[in-house]
Parts: sequence; structure tokens; C-alpha cells
Amino acid sequence: MLIMISKILSFFQTKKTTKVLIHPSVDNNRFPELPGFTGGSLTCHCKKKPVIVKLSSQTAHNHVCGCSKCWKPKGAVFSQVAVISRENVKVTANENKLVVVDAQAAINRYACKDCGVHMYGRIHNEAHPFFGLDFVHTELSKQSGWAPAEFAAFVSSIIETGTNPQDMPAIRERLLELGLEPYDCLSPDLMDAIAAHVAKKA
Ligand SMILES: [Zn+2]
Ligand SMILES: [Zn+2]
Repeated sequence: MLIMISKILSFFQTKKTTKVLIHPSVDNNRFPELPGFTGGSLTCHCKKKPVIVKLSSQTAHNHVCGCSKCWKPKGAVFSQVAVISRENVKVTANENKLVVVDAQAAINRYACKDCGVHMYGRIHNEAHPFFGLDFVHTELSKQSGWAPAEFAAFVSSIIETGTNPQDMPAIRERLLELGLEPYDCLSPDLMDAIAAHVAKKA
């Protein structure tokens, strides 16, 4: 009986002290989108000669992503990623430091070879439903006013990168608490967009 009580007590203690961290941009305050915001610059983590990418519009569909391919800041379980029209993305400094992480992937992620930060992801296949959209991490910008994350994509995939399956209920609960609906693929809006693209081609 005593053992059971102490087990129950320790369960509640760990539950109380374990803070579920998702991503630094959503764990504390999520700043609201600034109306009329027209973009800003992303800077990689290099102290010297950083890569700079200018985004000349607001982003859309910002979300946290659990897939194993998106760049995550140190210690984060999820990445945060948004889309933007590719014509609004321009590398303005040290482009020679960018390398494609995996040329076989549908999204070619251009990363700084020195600090490893992904500066933008681009789809080169014109038949892809998201062709024309680049993928960016607005946390790399000093400007505030970017559209905040709206949902969580590929949540179950964090298990592939080492999250204990037993931690999943607490993580999903925390996402809901933050107002980030957890999905194991993309959000319904984006899944519908993909299906509509497929239907149009068929
Ligand atoms: Zn860098
Ligand atoms: Zn991802």
C-alpha cells in the first residue's frame, strides 16, 4: 500500500515538474501578427559573414512541424516553419555559403554550411502542389509582426527523432493548450489544397 502511494505521489510530482517544451517561439508568448506587415530579413547564426535572406511579404500557414527534415533550433522538439511566394525570397548576403541539405527531397533546404541553419526551402518540381512557395523560419528575423504559428503538423513524427511515445499525450495536450491543433500530417486547409491539385491534374 505504501509503495503504491509513493508511486502515485512520484507520478504527480514528475507530472508537475516536467514542462513540455515545443519551440521557443511558442513556449512563452506568441506575438500576434501585425496588420500591414511587409516582411523582413532572416539572418543565419554565423557571427562573421552571416547569410541574409530578404522576405518582402508576410508569410502564411506558419506552424510548428515535427518532421525530421525541417531545421530546429538547439533543444527544440519541433521546428517552426511558414510559407511565402518564392518571388518574395531573395538572398542578399553570403549566398556562397548556402548548400542544399538533401537534393533528393521534394523540398530543397538551403542551409548555411558553417552554422547549419536552414535559410529557405524550395520546391523545384513544377508539378508539386506547393510549387511556387518557399519554406522559411521567421524566428531568424529580428523584426516582429510575423504571422504566428497556427497549428502543429506531423506531430507523431517526433517519435522518429527520439521522443518517447509515452510522452506524446502530454505533448499533444500542451499543443492544444497553446491553441496549436495537433495533426499527424498537414492541417485540413493544406491537405485540401493538395487534394484539389491532384483532382485538377486527374
Ligand atoms: Zn551561418
Ligand atoms: Zn517539417
